[in-house]
Parts: sequence; C-alpha cells; structure tokens
Amino acid sequence: DIRPVTRALISVSDKAGLVPFATALAKGGVELVSTGGTRKALAEAGLDVKDVSDLTGFPEMMDGRVKTLHPKIHGGILAIRADAGHQASLAEHAIAPIDLVVVNLYPFEATVARGADFDETIENIDIGGPALIRGAAKNHHDVAVVVDAADYEAVLAEIAAHGGTTLALRRRLAQAAYARTAAYDAAISNWFAGELKLDAPPFRAFGGKLLEALRYGENPHQSAAFYASGENRPGVATARQVQGKQLSFNNINDTNAAFEAVAEFPAARTAAVVIVKHANPCGVAEGASLAEAYRKALACDPVSAFGGIIAVNRTLDAEAARAMVEIFTEVIVAPDATEEAIAVVGAKKNLRLLITGGLPDPRAAGLDVRTVAGGLLVQGRDNASADDVALKVVTKRAPTAQELADLRFAFRVAKHVKSNTIVYAKDGATVGIGAGQMSRVDSARIAARKAEDAAEAAGLAAPLTKGSVVASDAFFPFADGLLAAVAAGATAVIQPGGSMRDQEVIDAADAAGLAMVFTGVRHFRH
Ligand code: 5GP
Repeated sequence: DIRPVTRALISVSDKAGLVPFATALAKGGVELVSTGGTRKALAEAGLDVKDVSDLTGFPEMMDGRVKTLHPKIHGGILAIRADAGHQASLAEHAIAPIDLVVVNLYPFEATVARGADFDETIENIDIGGPALIRGAAKNHHDVAVVVDAADYEAVLAEIAAHGGTTLALRRRLAQAAYARTAAYDAAISNWFAGELKLDAPPFRAFGGKLLEALRYGENPHQSAAFYASGENRPGVATARQVQGKQLSFNNINDTNAAFEAVAEFPAARTAAVVIVKHANPCGVAEGASLAEAYRKALACDPVSAFGGIIAVNRTLDAEAARAMVEIFTEVIVAPDATEEAIAVVGAKKNLRLLITGGLPDPRAAGLDVRTVAGGLLVQGRDNASADDVALKVVTKRAPTAQELADLRFAFRVAKHVKSNTIVYAKDGATVGIGAGQMSRVDSARIAARKAEDAAEAAGLAAPLTKGSVVASDAFFPFADGLLAAVAAGATAVIQPGGSMRDQEVIDAADAAGLAMVFTGVRHFRH
C-alpha cells in the first residue's frame, strides 16, 4: 500500500516550513506544481516549480477566485490508480496524476480576528483550496493530503523510509483534512451568523443532526432547535410522540430530567414514577404498580406537580394513565404503553405522550456539555449508581433494613435534584425535596416545610418527614443542616462524607440517635 510521490501540488497561504519541505521533495525527484504565490516563493528559493497554469492552460483569474478549479487538476487528484477507466480518461485528456496535495487555506479565521470589513472577509473564503483538500482526502487510497505544516515531517520520513506514503498515514491525513475543512466552514457560518445578528448557536460545532426547529428557547425571545447527538440512549431525542402538542424547549429539558431519573430504577425490580417541574423532581416513588407509585409520588408535593412532567419506568398501563389524567400534566414519557393506556391519554388532546422503546442505562458513559462565555465545558455524565456505592456506617447506630432501603432510594433521587439537595424519603417515596438552594441548611428547611404543607393538604396529623430518612447530595459542611433534618423527624442519613467537620456532624447524629452512612460518592448537579 505504498504510493510513491511523483508529482506534488503545493498551494499554501501560510508559507511557514514550505521551502525546506519542498526542497526535500524536489531532492527526492518529486515534480512540484504550485499556484502563483507559492510558486514564486519556491522559485525564489531556487527550486524548479511548474505553474498550475502550465497544466491547465488557463491563467489564474478573478483575483485568484479561480486558480486550481479545473479538470486537469481535479482529474489528476481524483483518478483511481487501479481503475482502467479512470486511467483511460487521464490518457485521453492528457491529465498528469497528482500523488501529494499540500494545501493550507486562505486565513479566514485570522482575517475575522483582525476585524477586516465584510468584503475583505468574504474574499478570504477559500474555494479551490477546500476542493483540493476534499478531493485528495477522498482519494486517500492513492493520494496523500497535507493541510498542516506539522505533518510535513511525517510525509518526508515515509518517503525516505519506504519510497512513498503508507495507507495508514494517508488515512490519518485524510481524517485531519476533513476536520480542517469542517472547522473552516463552521468558522465561516459562525461569522455570517454574527454579521446577520442571528441568535444562531454554533450547533454545527457539535456535529448534531437537526431534529426540529423549536418555536423558541427557554424564553420567547430566545431562538432554539433540537439536535440529535447520535448517542444510542433511549430518551426524549429518539422517542415517538404518540399524541399532543409540539414539545417546547422546556418540555424537552424537563422530560429528559424525568426520564433519566426514573431510569435509575430497574423496571424488573420495581415500578417507579418521577414527576418533574422545572428540571427538578417534585415527587418520586416506587410501588407494586405504576398507579401506586404515581399516587405516592404525587402526594410528595401535589401543588408543584400541577403542569408537571411524568416519567415511568415500565409500560404505561390504563390504571396508571387514568390516575395521571386527573390533573393537568404537560408530558408523560414511558418506555412503552398499552393500547388501553394510549386511549385513556387520548381523552386529553394536548397532553403529550412519548414512547421511548426502552430506558437509558444510568451507568452508561457519555458527555455533558454546557457553554460558558467564550468556551465549552465538557465532562463525563454522572453515571455513578446508588446500587454500586459501598455504604459505610459512621454512627453508633446502624440503619435498620427499612431505613437502609429508603436511604438508597433517597440517594438515587438526590442525584437528579439540583444542588444543594436534600431529599426526605419514606417507604420508597420522597416526602420532601429541597432543591437548588445556595445553602444546604435552607434546602433541609425547605424540604421539611414542603412536607408539612403536603401533610396539611392531605389532612394528616404529622408531616411524612416524621420517621423518614434523609439524603444529601454532598457532605454537610456544618451540623446545622443535619440538625434541621433531625427537627423534621428524620431518623437516618445518607451523604457522601468528606467534610473537615465530619466528626462534628457524626457527633450530632449520635447525640440525636440517628443512623448515618457515608457513600464516598458526591452527586452535585448544578
Ligand atoms: P498562492 O499563495 O499560492 O497564490 O495561493 C495559495 C492559496 O490559494 C491556498 O490557500 C489555496 O488554498 C488557495 N487556492 C488554491 N486554488 C484555489 C482556487 O481555485 N480558488 C481559490 N479561491 N483559492 C485557491
């Protein structure tokens, strides 16, 4: 798979490293062909260089807009060496094959960066260069393409060692070539978007496939679109919408939050329901059936659940659907649904029903991306599972079996609540969720107060936090947060541990007769 280099087309705007590279090629007997400026630079260095015009019989024209765009050039690059028909065409049209294409593009990005005006920027959009690069990269089986001076050395080394380039190198260079032309066109389209004052996020940079343009973003003055990442995880991006209005940006975000959360509960082990509002769960429960789990989840915070998003981890059945349509809900998302359940939901024309065909694997690796001014922050998904963490009892009292089950349940939910997170749980259901506060003690108090409100609404004598367990997504920095949980009636605690004041917190737990376990795993979610 070695391809000797007989003829090289060199056309570079950035001439750094050009002369030594071309000199070495010429010494090896390679015929050099170049465009105007490149040819001049090489001729000045004393090299024998043909002009592209010598091959095409056409002058460069229109201020360089048309230099290499000619069949004599592109035929020489694209001809398959082993194809008799292609070889016949080369002979018929007297086209000289080209084995190496060395191109770096008009400095579009640098032109934008130095604040050039519109017309000058447009003139710095390279046309022939990308065509040369893409053609050579396509025909990498026979042709080597270099878009970066950093690769000059590798090409010379292979010619010296093998008398030509290897397929492995040509493939690597082809990949780099397409990366360059893709980035180049992305830079052009982003510049255009800025010029046109389009609020067009640089989606193309993510390589996503457009699913749909959305009516607007988080707020009506923001534009938005929904893209597929190509990641193979069942969810809102790949779901089938059985009925209901078009999903909004916030619906999609909330539906994802709900479905990722419910996927933490293996369907084979339990039925589970998550109700989400504004990207935070406001009720999560397990049950013998989805209907039971839904009733328990709803009881946690029925006020917030109004207009929420419901996710379930099993096939939606009619009994659960009947319970769900009793209050206003925006979206129901399920791995599947029975015909009867679909008919029940059908009575509510606007209610969106999404069928995903499965649950996403909570342990799957993947990327989490967000933007900051001038940058992208990328991290691996939080794919730690409550099933995998080894719990360490740190108090004098160990949790009972029931407490332990609820502790794991609460920590599972805490992973999906915005920090600072406090989750009270009892009998496989959340009974108070404190989310998104800037201090942990506030989250503990808010969760307890919400539990009191829910108890009052349900006419209960005491809030459900009495005798509950509590989970914290990160360590308690002080004993105050823990004491707030004690005041609410919690009897056991799950938290990562790792604070400087862990001992103070453990002492407070012992003094209150609590059982506390450390997970060693933190679930910040901001
Ligand atoms: P030179 O300095 O050799 O005159 O020009 C080199 C530049 O021309 C390279 O950046 C190359 O990508 C670009 N180029 C080569 N062929 C064409 C063409 O046909 N049209 C345009 N617009 N640029 C070309």
